[in-house]
Amino acid sequence: MGAAAIASLEVLREEADRLAADARRPTAASSRMGEPRLTMAFRVRGNRRPSWLRGRLARKRHSGSGAGQETPSTSQDGPEAIFRERFRRLKPRTETPMFEIRFRPYASLRSTIKMQPGSRTIEVSLSDILRDAPPDVLDSLAAILLSKLYRQQIPKRTRRRYELWTHSQAVQDRMLAVRRERGRKNVLPPAGTVHDLDALFDRLNRRHFAGSLRKPGLGWSPKASRRRLGHYDPAHDVIVISRIFDRARAPELALEYVLFHEMLHVKHPAELRGTRRCVHTPEFQAEERTFPGYEHAKELIRSL
Ligand SMILES: [Zn+2]
Repeated sequence: MGAAAIASLEVLREEADRLAADARRPTAASSRMGEPRLTMAFRVRGNRRPSWLRGRLARKRHSGSGAGQETPSTSQDGPEAIFRERFRRLKPRTETPMFEIRFRPYASLRSTIKMQPGSRTIEVSLSDILRDAPPDVLDSLAAILLSKLYRQQIPKRTRRRYELWTHSQAVQDRMLAVRRERGRKNVLPPAGTVHDLDALFDRLNRRHFAGSLRKPGLGWSPKASRRRLGHYDPAHDVIVISRIFDRARAPELALEYVLFHEMLHVKHPAELRGTRRCVHTPEFQAEERTFPGYEHAKELIRSL
C-alpha cells in the first residue's frame, strides 16, 4: 500500500440531497433560511495524490522544510479563536456564534461541524491528529468546514493548503500508526459456545512449542466463514478463527490444525509482508507437517 492519499470532501448523503433540493428552490427563499443545521463531514481518504501536490511536496522536501511550516498570523490563538475569525470573514453581518471544539480519537482524519436549529453554538469535532496541526492548517480547515456548513464555495487555495499538510510524510505516518492502534477489529471473545480458543492455544503451545510461544489476541470471526478459516493479523496482533469451528459437529482436529497454522505465523512474523498475505516459507511448511494427523486434518478441512 502506498503512503499517498488524497484529501477529498466526503459529502454526506443528506447534504447531497439537500443541495439538489436547494438548486430547485428560488434563491431568495434559501437566503432567507436561518441557521444551518446539518452535520458536515470532511475527511481524508486513502487514494492517489493529485499531480499538483506531488510537485509541491517534492520541492518542499528539497528545500529542507516540511509541509506546514509557514508562519501563521494567528500563532497565539487557540482553535476557537481561529474558527471565530473565519466566521467573521465568511459572514461579516451575522453575529458570531460560540464555538465548541473537541478533539476526538478518530481512526482517520475526520472533521465534522454542526449547528442545531435555533442554537447559538457551532459544534466542531476534529480528529486529534489535528491537535498538532499548525494554526494556518486549522485556519484552512475552519474555512473549509464553515464553507460547507453555509454552502459556500471553498477557495482552491484553502483546500490546497490543508491538503499539503495532510499529505506530508509526517502526517501520513501518524495516520498509519493511528489506524493500527484504533482501527476496529471485529472479533468475538475467545470463549465460544463449544470451544475456548484461549485454552486451546495454551494446549497447543505446550504440545508444539514447549510453551514458549508469545500469546497474541485470540477471537472468533463474527461470520462462520468457510473461505477464511483463520488468519493472523499482525497490525492488531490477533489470531481470528472462523466461527464455523465453534460447533459440536465441527471436527476438533481441523480446528486444532487451523489454530496451529496461525500460531506458526506468530512464530514466523518476518515472513509476513503486508497485513493480509500469508507467506509460507519452506521452514514454515516443514514445521507445519510435524502436526500429528496433518494429512487427515487437511482432508477434514476440504470436507467442511
Ligand atoms: Zn497461512
